[in-house]
Amino acid sequence: MNRVYNFSAGPSMLPLEVLKKAQEELLCYGGSGMSVMEMSHRSSDFEAILHSAEASLRELMKIPDNYKVLFLQGGASTQFAAVPLNLLSEHKCADYIISGQFSKKAFTEAKKYGDVAVAASSAGASPTFSTVPETTRADFRPDADYVHICFNNTIYGTKFHYIPDTGNIPLVADMSSCILSEPVDVSRFGLIYAGAQKNVAPAGLTIVIVREDLIGKAMSETPAMLDYKLMADNDSMYNTPPCFCIYMAKLVFDWLLSIGGLEEMKRRNEKKASLLYDYLDSQKFYTATVDRKCRSMMNVVFTTASDELDKKFCAEAAAAGLKNLKGHRSVGGMRASIYNAMPYEGVVALVDFMKKFEMENPRLD
Ligand code: PMP
Repeated sequence: MNRVYNFSAGPSMLPLEVLKKAQEELLCYGGSGMSVMEMSHRSSDFEAILHSAEASLRELMKIPDNYKVLFLQGGASTQFAAVPLNLLSEHKCADYIISGQFSKKAFTEAKKYGDVAVAASSAGASPTFSTVPETTRADFRPDADYVHICFNNTIYGTKFHYIPDTGNIPLVADMSSCILSEPVDVSRFGLIYAGAQKNVAPAGLTIVIVREDLIGKAMSETPAMLDYKLMADNDSMYNTPPCFCIYMAKLVFDWLLSIGGLEEMKRRNEKKASLLYDYLDSQKFYTATVDRKCRSMMNVVFTTASDELDKKFCAEAAAAGLKNLKGHRSVGGMRASIYNAMPYEGVVALVDFMKKFEMENPRLD
């Protein structure tokens, strides 16, 4: 078995222990005589998997009882529409903080459904979106039904270093690329959503954690599949759920609990990110352009002095078993996504490679 260090932004690495457990159970789950992939979602075996996944997630994130946990499909992008359809309930007005492409997409989608405005944006930063906007309560319209943020900006390598103070206005956060990377106080949010394919499971599952009082008021034209109340009332089984992804998510949640939960995960993630950022800060060959105070612990973005050298870096890194380091097509350069499942050794290997590459390609200036 020749596994590489996969720095993909998502879908991305899963913990080896989880993959092995899934492999062990692939042909025959428990005493069922069948794979989870072949199981009816109405079977008692699958219902037990679903309930156990929810219980483990609740334990990990300390989700208060007045929040529903939904296991949905359609990716985080479907939530760009589901959020306004469900939450633009009172004044049909919402405010968005724009900190990257995904918050921009979420904003563009929400505009179809109501009076949706930009409360703050870091598009004008240089380079664009290299920081996140600072906000105060005064930035939000008092009659907004919710405020939306993207907590970790996967493409630009930034993360909110604070939770915006929105007063009584529910805060909605896209946590696709940082969920479960560290503890968060769920009670500070009205709704959290995340595509699973970074820190949770294979692609195909979307997690929504929503405060109960925010559901049940969806617009009448809301498609059934996007109606949180319908999904909650049916235990995420209004139709066939992404069964195998939910099973994988359960294994990942249980793995997280087994290592000591999100405090321990945070410690490990900080150790990995510090190794890389400390190295970047200690030399001049590579540049990390992101505002230091909002550096992402999950997506580390850097460049060399030229596009040609960036290309060479990615090609040689891939040949050395360090895959998918190419930055997003809109940004260029490199991006090392070091999600929960990336072992410390992977980051050590990356930093060693970066040092070697610098020695072999000295700057001419
Ligand atoms: N939000 C963020 C922060 C993301 O990183 C992504 C995907 N990389 C999305 C939303 C879109 O997710 P999906 O592909 O699951 O629709």
